Amino acid sequence: MLGGSPYHMMYAMGASGDGQKRPANVDLRRIVRYFAPYWPQEAFVLACILVATSLGQLPPLFTKWIIDDSIAKRDLHSLWLNVGGMVGVALAVAAIGAWQGYLNAAVGEGIMRDMRDALVQHLHRMPLSFFTSTKTGEIMNRVSSDVDAIDNVVTGTLVTIVTNVLTIVTTLIAIFWLDWRLALLSLIVVPIMVIPLGPVGRTMFAVRKKTREQRDKIESLIQETLSLSGITLVKSFVRERQEAARFHAAGTELMEMEIRLALVGRWFIALVGALVVIGPAIIWLGGGWLAIERGLQVGTIVAFVAYLARLYGPAATLVSVQVQIVSALAVFERIFNYLDMTPEAPQRPNAIALHDVRGEVSFEHVRFRYVEDRWALDDVGFRAAPGQLVAFVGPSGAGKTTIMNLVPRFYDPQEGRVALDGHDVRDLTLESLRASIGIVAQETYLFHTTIRENLRYGNPTASDAELVAACKAANIYDFIASLPEGFDTVVGERGLKLSGGERQRVAIARVLLKDPCVLILDEATSSLDSTSEQLIQAALEPLMRGRTSLVIAHRLSTVVRADVIHVVDGGRIVESGTHRELLARGGLYATLYEAQFKQAIGTEALA
Ligand code: ATP
Repeated sequence: MLGGSPYHMMYAMGASGDGQKRPANVDLRRIVRYFAPYWPQEAFVLACILVATSLGQLPPLFTKWIIDDSIAKRDLHSLWLNVGGMVGVALAVAAIGAWQGYLNAAVGEGIMRDMRDALVQHLHRMPLSFFTSTKTGEIMNRVSSDVDAIDNVVTGTLVTIVTNVLTIVTTLIAIFWLDWRLALLSLIVVPIMVIPLGPVGRTMFAVRKKTREQRDKIESLIQETLSLSGITLVKSFVRERQEAARFHAAGTELMEMEIRLALVGRWFIALVGALVVIGPAIIWLGGGWLAIERGLQVGTIVAFVAYLARLYGPAATLVSVQVQIVSALAVFERIFNYLDMTPEAPQRPNAIALHDVRGEVSFEHVRFRYVEDRWALDDVGFRAAPGQLVAFVGPSGAGKTTIMNLVPRFYDPQEGRVALDGHDVRDLTLESLRASIGIVAQETYLFHTTIRENLRYGNPTASDAELVAACKAANIYDFIASLPEGFDTVVGERGLKLSGGERQRVAIARVLLKDPCVLILDEATSSLDSTSEQLIQAALEPLMRGRTSLVIAHRLSTVVRADVIHVVDGGRIVESGTHRELLARGGLYATLYEAQFKQAIGTEALA
């Protein structure tokens, strides 16, 4: 009855176009593939179902034998036997059901875990551009609630289908064996159940899809306004009332959609429910006539009516399951759409794993754009020799961060090449490339866990002595030691329980533990007090020593010490040289120096 109909329905709808960018790509085989690793448990579940449904056919027969044999022939011994049989069968079916429920949960939960793993692993391989253009809330929704939403289908529905189909088949055999005329009569209501399936399923699929999209929206709203940065913004602009109204509007829209979802097909399921009552009435009419006119035994009619419950009940369940499946397919489609997204620029098949990196970084005629028609970098070329300190300065939006992003291949240039030790970075394995590079960003990110765990992110095998040494070098050890819980202090959401300067020094210690050959450093623009500034300067010393350092410079001390300074403007390197050379030249650097660095002299002199 169900067959492949929901899937055909899906394809039909995908072709009709319902606002989705790509055609529906849910194919049954793809879903089934997730079930494959669990086949032994599934085989056992099937065996349980088979035994339980076959045993389930016996009670109506016991009823018939009790009426027609035991009672009619006044045979107490046979009465005991038949009633005992009834009770025994019921107990056996219950025991099998419990075991089957356990296996079923194990399979379902395993499949959901696998699906979440696949999604997260795929997301790990997505390029940064995906994360800059996708709302975090949407991503969270796919990984958590979308996978949860298919729980019902994965854990329960397939078993329900098999159980009910088997129940229907075994019941059909039993009723045709019992009396073929009544059996035919009981089948006349079946088409009424099946015909409306198509339209109901279609509406269900469309509404379900919309509700999932609305959930994305709500999740994004929560994510944006209730994250630490978001709530700070809301509070500082006193926008609580407007945010509450925006949330209420989105919530109301979802509420209306969910109500519609609950209503779709309800009348139809109710009709099916009514047929479950009407069916036996037809049998009483036909059976009664046969009993009066043709001498049919009363026990047969009673057994028949009992069997009807085993026929219409499962049929009604299958109808509602069909509706569930179709709506779950909308969720499967969302999950598969994510899994089908093109991951990060793929590693070349014969990529080299670079060992003993010297740390020479070079850009050759690099052109790069984030969006069409607007080059963020235009013909950028430079070479940083191993161990050199190379500073990049330039006005805001000039392209300094973009240059840094190309080194670890967060993005790939459209033209030209970026090389590490003479190898195009696209020829290296991503793992070896990124292992050679350490990044200290302007905004330090720490995980909401202990300082120790955050530090070990740089090197999971680092010993406690190494942690202490790195923290001492990064000038953060004394601070950590002064905390009541020391290295076990939890740093709070994004590390915001620490001050900006402390966070940065923890981040420096983290990179020291990683010990990369190339360091990318985006100096903080936020002015720290002179003591904090001094501590960070001192922490940076050991960090830069012996490594090629590419620094987006905001401090006078950095540009003065730099082996070479590149001045970036409008995506191009417009001047290069040492601090003295560039000052003497009197170009853009000299202007920037006046505006940006000179005022820092006071602070740094104090430091
Ligand atoms: P700042 O000193 O202000 O951090 P910057 O020199 O580091 O600036 P970049 O961040 O490299 O500048 O940006 C260079 C240009 O690229 C800017 O015009 C910016 O608007 C654009 N840009 C940066 N990131 C993206 C992105 N993900 N998508 C589209 N455009 C981007």
